[in-house]
Amino acid sequence: MITFKDLNLTKPLLNALSDIGFDNPTPIQEKAFPVIMSGKDAVGIAQTGTGKTFAYLLPILRQLTYSEQRQPRVLIVVPTRELVLQVVDEVAKLATYMQARCVGVYGGGNINIQKQKVYDGVDILVATPGRLIDLTLSRTLQFNSIQKLVIDEVDEMLNLGFRSQLIKILDILPEKRQNLMFSATLNEDVEMMIDNYFYKPEYIELISRGTPLEKIIQQAYHVPNFYTKVNLLEYLLQTEKNFTKVLLFVKNKKIADDIYKELEGEFAEDIGVIHSNKSQPQRFSAVKKFDEGTHRLLIATDVIARGLDLKDVTHVINFDMPSKEASAYIHRIGRTGRADKTGIAISFITKLNLPMQKEIETLMKKKLEILDMPEAVEISENLTQDEKPVTRDKSLKKIPKHVTPTGAFHEKKDKNKKVNLGGKRRQENLRRIAEKKARTRPF
Ligand code: AMP
Repeated sequence: MITFKDLNLTKPLLNALSDIGFDNPTPIQEKAFPVIMSGKDAVGIAQTGTGKTFAYLLPILRQLTYSEQRQPRVLIVVPTRELVLQVVDEVAKLATYMQARCVGVYGGGNINIQKQKVYDGVDILVATPGRLIDLTLSRTLQFNSIQKLVIDEVDEMLNLGFRSQLIKILDILPEKRQNLMFSATLNEDVEMMIDNYFYKPEYIELISRGTPLEKIIQQAYHVPNFYTKVNLLEYLLQTEKNFTKVLLFVKNKKIADDIYKELEGEFAEDIGVIHSNKSQPQRFSAVKKFDEGTHRLLIATDVIARGLDLKDVTHVINFDMPSKEASAYIHRIGRTGRADKTGIAISFITKLNLPMQKEIETLMKKKLEILDMPEAVEISENLTQDEKPVTRDKSLKKIPKHVTPTGAFHEKKDKNKKVNLGGKRRQENLRRIAEKKARTRPF
């Protein structure tokens, strides 16, 4: 087994790693190091939990020289503010014995404080896409000095709708730079971005090695509805004492809050909720309490939980199955069984989720182990408003079907194709707006 000493690292980095207590690189770290050091563009296929953050930070810090220039030389773009803070934290750990100025910027934080920090000088900037663009627009931040770009969790960034922001960023970065991208999965969108912006990238994949996913026990229950899911969850929390750090994934904020309401009677002291309607301090506090073990259960939506480095999660429960992409399942279960620990993922599967179960099993090349519903769990007949079948009010009139007019269809003569272009003044205004648009910068 190779150790960090076998990689061409500097003393300050080796000392920092030794302080953290890491001796051996994870497979992605071992593979990525020489590729990133070579200066080539690279795409790492790795989910959270594999040590991918250090995989790109180590070679980046290894190559970072001391500088007093203010504008950043390394840009790391990540999908969520939580991930910004996490990466900044990881840089701080690794750079304990180096002089590396790392700043994190993200939406929701005070932009003036962030502007000041950037203005004071930064080597490594970690950012969410929207805030990054805001800062370039205000001219506080300039990209001329960027030598290395990391896009982390790019698949998630695209899922979150950051596509156009990412492209804007890629378009204004200096052409001569090293591009690094990390993604749990590759899909068409991600590949298109690689084709358009990367130069002969080297792919770093972990397929042949034992990936952490293989260490995760994947089980499932077939459950008919929301209230039965709540009963099952309650039962598991009551009876399974080894469920000490449970991350529970739900479809949306409302369900997160509804579950909390159902369980708070018995478990209020044990549960935290995190979703995008929660304020920033509430979110940090929920993560902290879960991390420290004060809370035993953290209820989270996909968007928020993605990329969070929650330590030692014993169980991931999919209270709701992912509804769109099977790859979301991989991201979710990657939160348990991190680094060299085993973990358990449990999915609550309704009838509607059966096609998704199939899709996931195909993607994972593995069948989920279906467990029998424990007898003590009451099967509820109650349905939530969303689960109730839609019935049509018979008193409502049927909408008449569209009737295609009969008669010969022929193309109108040009003079009869009346298009309302507005008055002369309107046309003049439109022309001026179009001209102005063409003159202004791309954003
Ligand atoms: P990541 O995939 O970057 O989210 O990292 C997952 C977890 O693995 C984090 O808690 C890291 O601190 C931890 N980790 C990273 N590198 C190593 C290593 N070489 N040995 C043990 N744990 C590691």
